[in-house]
Amino acid sequence: MISISEIHRLLDGYARDGLTLATMGSHTALQILKGARDEGFRNLVICKRGVEAVYQQFGVADEVLMVDEYQQCLDEEFMQRLRDRNVILIPHGSFVEYLSPQRIETELRIPLFGNRMVLEWESDRVKERTWLAHAGLRLPKEFKTPENIDRLVLVKFPGAKGGRGYFIASKPEEFERKLEKLKLRDKERFTIQEFVIGTRFYPHYFYSPLKDRVELLSMDIRYESNIDGISRLATILQDNPPEPSFVVTGNIPVVARESLLPQILEMGQRVVKASQELFSPGLIGPFCLETISTEDMEFIAFEISARIVAGTNLYINGSPYSHLLYPEPMSTGRRIAREIKEAVRDDALERVIY
Ligand code: ATP
Repeated sequence: MISISEIHRLLDGYARDGLTLATMGSHTALQILKGARDEGFRNLVICKRGVEAVYQQFGVADEVLMVDEYQQCLDEEFMQRLRDRNVILIPHGSFVEYLSPQRIETELRIPLFGNRMVLEWESDRVKERTWLAHAGLRLPKEFKTPENIDRLVLVKFPGAKGGRGYFIASKPEEFERKLEKLKLRDKERFTIQEFVIGTRFYPHYFYSPLKDRVELLSMDIRYESNIDGISRLATILQDNPPEPSFVVTGNIPVVARESLLPQILEMGQRVVKASQELFSPGLIGPFCLETISTEDMEFIAFEISARIVAGTNLYINGSPYSHLLYPEPMSTGRRIAREIKEAVRDDALERVIY
């Protein structure tokens, strides 16, 4: 485990007027790089061979560092090259997936925007549920044993990428039949969760420790295959429906009915407060709640992502919500750079970098 004081010591050695914001070339890198530049920072992208063309073509990166494997980012020599450039790393979904929360916590000796402890809380389903419950959010009912299944449920597996491998069932026998088909070795490690029917909303928040404020920057709905395709053919497929899957293939912009906004804002605030109580200094910067609004207009939250999410790519040029908060186009990537800029100005970088 790398201590916070060790990271802050590294930060002490950085020239405040020569900082570089860096990330890996994937996920939300384009908006992170553009946002850094818009806020006056030098930027850098770490690319696996073959993907650099995207960043060169869009002309958003000041420097491209090539690697054969992303794991190379953890080599001492490579980390020293980053520290020589006064690099602050901005984590995103692929970044966390490639390096793993454990290795980021124990091996990545580079200042990181946000609290690296949060990655462990969001990636472990038990800890995640503890956090959301502590925040007083409504969660989908979970069934400890399959015998008790009395409604439509979604069976989730750990580390499922974008819902791949999930299945649905509505009776214990159906569950057993489908589980058997999967021929799993480790049968214990699934979660049986009530399938909540309603409208999905994925609000993108930003918590600023400097302002002690939770901002709602934008919102999306994920487009998922094949479930969203099935709905178009529901009547035709009713005699022989395929097994639904939930693989993210795109993102659709959405605004919520205005009377739902108080609940949406409150959920964000509660999650931040709970994080501060559970793992001080808690969540810092961007996060997203995956929620479903029921017909009673109540929100049920089934997941949290405690870093920038891909749905924010819809809003590189700002969103209706960010437009109310900021006169300039404020993407989540740019908002991260703005927080770092204000922290430098206030001599408070150690409040946003861990
Ligand atoms: P990611 O890490 O990309 O968020 P994941 O593998 O953790 O994906 P989830 O986000 O938990 O998967 O779920 C994938 C999709 O399944 C959701 O976007 C949603 O459409 C659906 N889903 C998940 N949980 C529920 C639920 N309890 N009720 C209804 N739909 C759900």
